[in-house]
Amino acid sequence: MFWLSVVLCAVAVRGNPTPATMPEAYDTIIIGMGAAGCTAASTLSKAGKRVLGLEAMDRVGGRVNTVPFGDGVVELGAEWIHGQFPSRVYDLAIQNNVSILPQDLDFDVYRSDGSSGDKQLLNELMTFSLGVVDDPPEVPEPLGQYITKRLMDYIKTNHPALLQDKDFIDNLLEFLDLVIDNYESSNSWNDVSTETRYAELDGHQHMSWHRNGYKTLFQILLNTYNNGPGYPTLDIKLKKEVSQISWPQDPNADVVVTCTDGTTYRAKNVIVTVSLGVLKERHATLFTPGLPQAKITAIDKGLTLGLIGKIILRFPEKFWEEGKQNFYLFWDKKDKEAMGDDWGRQLVQVSFPMGASNVMTVWTKGDVAKLVETLPEDVVKRKVMELVRRFMGKGKTIPEPIAMLRSSWFSNPYTRGSYTYDNILTPQYPNARATLAEPLLDSSGAPRVLFAGEATDNTHFSTVHGATDTGFREANRLLPTAKL
Ligand SMILES: Cc1cc2nc3c(=O)[nH]c(=O)nc-3n(C[C@H](O)[C@H](O)[C@H](O)COP(=O)(O)OP(=O)(O)OC[C@H]3O[C@@H](n4cnc5c(N)ncnc54)[C@H](O)[C@@H]3O)c2cc1C
Repeated sequence: MFWLSVVLCAVAVRGNPTPATMPEAYDTIIIGMGAAGCTAASTLSKAGKRVLGLEAMDRVGGRVNTVPFGDGVVELGAEWIHGQFPSRVYDLAIQNNVSILPQDLDFDVYRSDGSSGDKQLLNELMTFSLGVVDDPPEVPEPLGQYITKRLMDYIKTNHPALLQDKDFIDNLLEFLDLVIDNYESSNSWNDVSTETRYAELDGHQHMSWHRNGYKTLFQILLNTYNNGPGYPTLDIKLKKEVSQISWPQDPNADVVVTCTDGTTYRAKNVIVTVSLGVLKERHATLFTPGLPQAKITAIDKGLTLGLIGKIILRFPEKFWEEGKQNFYLFWDKKDKEAMGDDWGRQLVQVSFPMGASNVMTVWTKGDVAKLVETLPEDVVKRKVMELVRRFMGKGKTIPEPIAMLRSSWFSNPYTRGSYTYDNILTPQYPNARATLAEPLLDSSGAPRVLFAGEATDNTHFSTVHGATDTGFREANRLLPTAKL
């Protein structure tokens, strides 16, 4: 899609070529051109290596997808740079004079009867709940269970009168579950473990690429930003779905990569950057010989690829106050009960992206995000507008949206979710991410199949900066003299 100067001239080999007809092997084939793959490609190409990037989709970027919308752009995937220091992603933007703006996600609260919620109280209770993650119990437990215990103690001490209002406490806990799910990409806060090595970077947590779009990162990485020439030793082929990676024990043999269209490519080594969801679904057929048991266990049990999604609406004009960036929807019990188990009950957050005017994002998560991907567009639009009018429409007329987009990260066979979290089994597999990152070696001990991607980063998984770090890490595994 966006800026690519893709080299299309490499020879495509069909069937079973004889050695004489085989094209020259690449140094490295990179499977998947998301943040990890593009960083690895950039690092190796800068070092003069002959690199082939094979990408199943018709664009680079992976779980970053900037699309034109209205008078600007919106992000169907990653939106912010989470933290500035130290961040390869933030540094690349600054070094290339790309403006990056902090988005203040201070929020207001609307209730289901259309009134304003007690922002100060909810802010205090949310801040406390999110904060207890940094003070985990000695024995890991489901996150929701732990937050509930700690929060009840906090309320008992600081707001004892609230405990008399059982409906409010129920509403609060359901609300916090949804808010935490939107952070973690979980279906329930009790699917997430209190034990995690995730670490925030320093600096502002919501730096936006705004009208530039996150796609700019990929232009910078591939040296095509500002009409840059790309890299002479890098070939990128789009719509190339890899179906098999055949890796040798013999140090003199190549790795052979086969695509679903029958083409094969050879290289000294490959870097696999596909998501954990793709690995869960396909590892048994993707690798020949198959993966070691420890890696299979890490993939199958140790980690979860969660799901958050976006429903993005454009309006003829703003009906919200200028400067507002984020709203939470707080259900009252009687209204919630009247909804039954309607999926709309599980929508809790609305934000306003910085890349285009008059645009609103309604966030979905877990099973509801999966469902929303499958529903007809008019059904989704009607439900969202019903909620927006109910919560935000008191005393004003809210116009119909003039355009709508939504993400499909679960239906997409090349992603199958949004980002990983540490599930309640992860404490039993504390090295799952490191195990996933271990390369497959030939008989001489040389790495032949390497693994990158957000899921393989111990502390910055789930983010773009974490993904780029893993691409850099694996490229440097192949460049022994390079400095990390
Ligand atoms: C809705 C949403 C919001 C997010 N918000 C943020 C945010 O604000 N900030 C942040 O830092 N992170 C955010 N993230 C997470 C971030 O997008 C990811 O962590 C990161 O982009 C992952 O990069 P990756 O290179 O590891 O994987 P991917 O981007 O998934 O790249 C892997 C690539 O492999 C390709 N592929 C898969 N199978 C094959 C195959 N068989 N053959 C060839 N190619 C294949 C895929 O098409 C893909 O392009 C968000 C994600 C989502 C979905």
